[in-house]
Amino acid sequence: MSLRVAVVGSGPAGIYTAEALTRQATGPVEVDVLERLPTPYGLVRYGVAPDHTSIKSIAGYLRRVLELPGVRFLGGIEFGRDVSRDDLLACYDAVVYCTGAMVDRRMGVPGEDLPGSVAATDFVNWYCGHPDVPADRFLLDSPEVAVIGVGNVAVDVVRILAKTAEELRATDVPEEVLSRLAASRVKAVHMIGRRGPEHAKFTLKELRELGELANADVRVRPEEAAASVEGLPRQVRGNVEVLQSWAARTPAGRPRLLDVRFWMRPVEILGRDRVEALRLERTRLADGRVVGTGEFEVLPVGMVLRSVGYRSVPLPGVPFSEATMTVPNEAGRAGDREYVAGWLKRGPSGVIGTNKSDAAETVRTLLADLAGRAPVRHADLDPLLARRGLLPVTYDGWRAIEAAEAALARSLGRGERVKLAGAAAMAAVLEGREPCEDGVPDGTGRTAGLAGTEDAEGLAAR
Ligand code: NAP
Repeated sequence: MSLRVAVVGSGPAGIYTAEALTRQATGPVEVDVLERLPTPYGLVRYGVAPDHTSIKSIAGYLRRVLELPGVRFLGGIEFGRDVSRDDLLACYDAVVYCTGAMVDRRMGVPGEDLPGSVAATDFVNWYCGHPDVPADRFLLDSPEVAVIGVGNVAVDVVRILAKTAEELRATDVPEEVLSRLAASRVKAVHMIGRRGPEHAKFTLKELRELGELANADVRVRPEEAAASVEGLPRQVRGNVEVLQSWAARTPAGRPRLLDVRFWMRPVEILGRDRVEALRLERTRLADGRVVGTGEFEVLPVGMVLRSVGYRSVPLPGVPFSEATMTVPNEAGRAGDREYVAGWLKRGPSGVIGTNKSDAAETVRTLLADLAGRAPVRHADLDPLLARRGLLPVTYDGWRAIEAAEAALARSLGRGERVKLAGAAAMAAVLEGREPCEDGVPDGTGRTAGLAGTEDAEGLAAR
């Protein structure tokens, strides 16, 4: 009898877990990768910026894992809604939770809930075509925008705001998002760090890209970039040197301004019915803590994007630490036959590849725990789902969505693929209706035959 494992979440952590199980297990293993969305790859599809095509190409590697014998993709099945922890423990010998860190952290300043004050996660989801965020969610009608935080997500967001729609045309951003980016009135983007350049979380490669934007001048104030590079780690030293070189630049008169700020913290978002301005306070460090100096500045921004980190959310019935915002674990073991990998295990840090070694560690723990143990599962998931009227999106169903996205890109004369706009458009493909030209379904159901299980190549040819 083979070892049967459920992996909850099909982002990099989940798929690397599936791969590690197939590689490390000495006997036969069956892995079901359950996913809330109809599409796999998590943040690789809905988090990596559309213009970072080389990082996005990791999807090609993840795809090969889903195609391994013994690995199944079950999309559209939500843990806690469609299946419970008890269901999975009855149907599998072990369960590995890999649901990542799906929501934004908050800043805790007055005005944070005003319209126009938004989580970077929402904005990223929007330009990545995530089905949870409608394509008409954002109207970029403010000349000035503030992005709080100086991590890589903030860098992605400011870059997308600073680029022209033409520069993003060959990417997979949904057509409606592209036209909203084309109509953007944004002239200045302020990226705000509450500590100094030597404390910023962005990485050098990502930072450098901001200095190469064709459509935006980058501005750094020399007094804010002043920091000694003595003794700094190489990457951090690189960040500081790049920022200091930008501080010496003369603006080239490009249409947009990218204003990179340090030693400023948001204290209040101002506005009556929506964001009208952002109040900042200058900061310094006292005993390693950020404190205000009592010097204030008001930026006339109409939108504030908080990019201050992600956090995981508790899964129903699964232990969770509010202090660390992770599932407490020992080398991935979260309980009897329960395991965790990725950001839910260690918090939102590292690059995509970090999840590979992380997943491998969890799988080593799992296999050691279960070695020689008689299987305890006593039910099957498929009949359970059928009894509940749930039909998972299969790997072929996902390939049909992919093929429809490639077909859409061809019809629009854009790059390799254009994301379908929202869940309805994907459902249209899975149900055999065609999404119309801009990727939004017309709801007529006029074309039969694009069934989710149909051969993807056949679909692409339509
Ligand atoms: P992050 O790297 O943790 O950066 C969060 C930023 O928010 C920091 O500058 C932090 O400043 C600031 N911050 C936190 N609380 C704040 C507050 N209350 N007020 C003002 N600023 C505050 O998080 P992230 O940018 O979301 O990135 C998450 C992970 O994804 C990282 O590992 C990142 O490298 C990775 N990622 C990688 C790429 C890429 O490789 N291209 C792209 C996107 C994301 P302090 O340091 O002062 O706390």
